Amino acid sequence: MRIGIFGGTFNPVHLGHLRAAEEVREALDLEKVLFVPSYIPPHKELASDVPGSVRLEIVRLAVQSNPFFELSPFEVEQGGNSYSVRTIEHVRQRYGGTPWFILGQDAFNEILTWFEASRLFDLAHFAVMSRPGAERPDLRHVLGEEAARFRTASDGYVSREGNRIVFVHVTPLDISSSKIRDLCRQGRSVTYLIPEEVEEYIGSERIYE
Ligand code: ATP
Ligand code: MG
Repeated sequence: MRIGIFGGTFNPVHLGHLRAAEEVREALDLEKVLFVPSYIPPHKELASDVPGSVRLEIVRLAVQSNPFFELSPFEVEQGGNSYSVRTIEHVRQRYGGTPWFILGQDAFNEILTWFEASRLFDLAHFAVMSRPGAERPDLRHVLGEEAARFRTASDGYVSREGNRIVFVHVTPLDISSSKIRDLCRQGRSVTYLIPEEVEEYIGSERIYE
């Protein structure tokens, strides 16, 4: 199965995430994109104390209308630190084959700081989405010595083992969860930045006030 794994804190999920994931799904002809909210991100503190269960509900509401999108509670249910290698291994066991790990250029640029970074590239293909404000440096710059395993391909890079890194230019939407949280805190409108269902839910539950 051609499957994508889209991890993040999703605090909250916004239209930048959703549109970018939809464009990647179409570009790579994925049959399913799993949205995997992280429990405690290992190198990023949650800006506010929003429990995993609430972020799961937010993402559930956001993906329910897209037949290709699915919520995965895997990392929240595992608890502890969320490591993408574990999630990818879990998806490989469950669905077989090599999944596509989907992330924004800003996240990709820091990937060497991730747990067992070099193993990530053995377990998954990578789809790196463009994001406003994030540069796309040379692969050597991002991966250091790891870059030696990759050679240039038409749409990105391919490793000796056949694992790919593909750069997908998506419609630039300069939306971030931090921006949404700021607007909510200031009592300002977030309409047209997040799905309506999410806006209703976080408003009625007063999650980011
Ligand atoms: P925060 O401001 O809290 O960091 P965020 O908007 O960056 O939130 P994350 O949950 O950190 O959201 O991001 C999850 C993944 O989605 C990351 O790989 C990130 O690069 C990507 N992403 C987030 N927003 C966009 C966007 N507007 N365009 C493209 N990719 C995005
Ligand atoms: Mg982020």
